[in-house]
Amino acid sequence: MTETATEITRLETFLQDHPTIKYISPSSDNYASAHKCWNGARHDKPLAIVQPQSHADVCTLIKYVKSKSLPFTLRTGGHNLEGRAVVERALLIDLRLLAGVTIEFDRKSAVIQGGTLQEEVGNTLWKEGLGTATGSIPSVGYVGWATYGGYGPFSSHWGLGADQIISATVVNPDGEIYVADQDLLQGIRGTGGLFGVILELTVKVYPLHKLLAGPIVFESTNIKETFIAFNAEYQKLESEGIPAKLTVQQTIFNSSHGAAFAVQFVWSGEILEDGQHWSERIASLGPVLMNGVTPTNLPDWFAGIGAHIPKTVYGSPFSYNVSSISPEVAESIGNGIAKMPNNPGTMMSMHQLRGNALQCELSSVFEAREPHFMLEIIGFSTDSALQQEAEKWAAEIAEDLVKVAPDALLPTHYISVFNSIAQASSPTEWVDKTYGTKVDTLKSLKAEFDPENLFALTVPTLR
Ligand SMILES: Cc1cc2nc3c(=O)[nH]c(=O)nc-3n(C[C@H](O)[C@H](O)[C@H](O)COP(=O)(O)OP(=O)(O)OC[C@H]3O[C@@H](n4cnc5c(N)ncnc54)[C@H](O)[C@@H]3O)c2cc1C
Repeated sequence: MTETATEITRLETFLQDHPTIKYISPSSDNYASAHKCWNGARHDKPLAIVQPQSHADVCTLIKYVKSKSLPFTLRTGGHNLEGRAVVERALLIDLRLLAGVTIEFDRKSAVIQGGTLQEEVGNTLWKEGLGTATGSIPSVGYVGWATYGGYGPFSSHWGLGADQIISATVVNPDGEIYVADQDLLQGIRGTGGLFGVILELTVKVYPLHKLLAGPIVFESTNIKETFIAFNAEYQKLESEGIPAKLTVQQTIFNSSHGAAFAVQFVWSGEILEDGQHWSERIASLGPVLMNGVTPTNLPDWFAGIGAHIPKTVYGSPFSYNVSSISPEVAESIGNGIAKMPNNPGTMMSMHQLRGNALQCELSSVFEAREPHFMLEIIGFSTDSALQQEAEKWAAEIAEDLVKVAPDALLPTHYISVFNSIAQASSPTEWVDKTYGTKVDTLKSLKAEFDPENLFALTVPTLR
């Protein structure tokens, strides 16, 4: 019997005593679909897949993997851009059956279960006239998004995802339920699953009854010039002051007419007329092809964005934080987007850290608090045969930025989009580049809460 077969037999015997834990064996019909991640280029195959249905099931599983020294990974939405939720021959603990959102009595916070997707968070709160910081892709896991930082359409108004976390319940390396103390919370706000399985997060919520949102697509025949001109005008507007209730995300995507430059406009303030005024100001920064900004609701808005994101892609990302879209940065990105391969999986997006995301009174190991744009250069393709072309395109933009605009590149990186292999020479450099001055805090928290490194295959990898 091979080692793998022995491990599977042992696991199956154990699961017979724990029938509430759902099991997907490597020979199950749904094994392939159950471990599929957003990045289809991740070819690793897990030992098997288990789906806990209760907090007690998670404790049971963690005690089991520890007692057998069995490598394991955690997965929720499967949207880690490198597909890190799946590792060859490691047991995959799929948390998606542990989903749900409960609004607290005072309506100032909500408890979000560890396996909940963004869509369920936003939509449940919306029905109650509430909102919180979320990302914009409905199928991304909420915990995976929020705990590593969490940039999104409400960042300027309410802060990052990590800034909303006021308490967390985890299953620790001993398989016990533990309510995080302030030290552990500091680590969870920035490094997610490094210390344990997050069963629940309690997050801040805010009144949200209205939403004015949608894309403003600019004339993109000469996309480089459009991009450069927009950013020059946007900088002027910013110097006059842009309200925090407005979050603007620049995107470059492939439409049926080729590459297009657009702004995702989200106004989450109460007074829609003010938002309308701002949508006109943003639209005035370039020649508009289509202005889709309209009063909407969160479920429709999520659905609209989700419909444009391919379900499976092949490739890798690159990311930099830049202090501003200076003329050099704009020229470099402009040159890159003019050469973007024509595939729906290839795109670029720019989140801006401004407004109320610039500071947070809660301690965290999230490092990048200076004003910046977080560049997501999505070197992916929906066609695996075109993966290399997309990756080469993304790598060339990243290389050119280093060459022509080194002063604009910040030392901080965003772990969820950073390319841990191409942009770092080792796991140590990966961690150093993403956590900067917070690395020592991170390491001492790891030594305190997971001294044996049971959670070794999480994001990030510390040793
Ligand atoms: C199309 C797309 C768009 C994106 N847009 C944004 C964006 O706008 N803003 C932004 O900030 N990021 C964005 N991201 C990045 C995304 O937020 C992160 O990759 C996030 O970690 C994905 O979470 P997941 O649960 O979907 O992924 P998974 O691959 O399932 O999980 C990633 C890792 O998170 C950890 N984890 C997940 N759940 C738990 C848990 N309950 N307990 C402990 N650890 C856990 C594990 O270590 C796991 O390996 C985007 C990614 C994609 C693919």
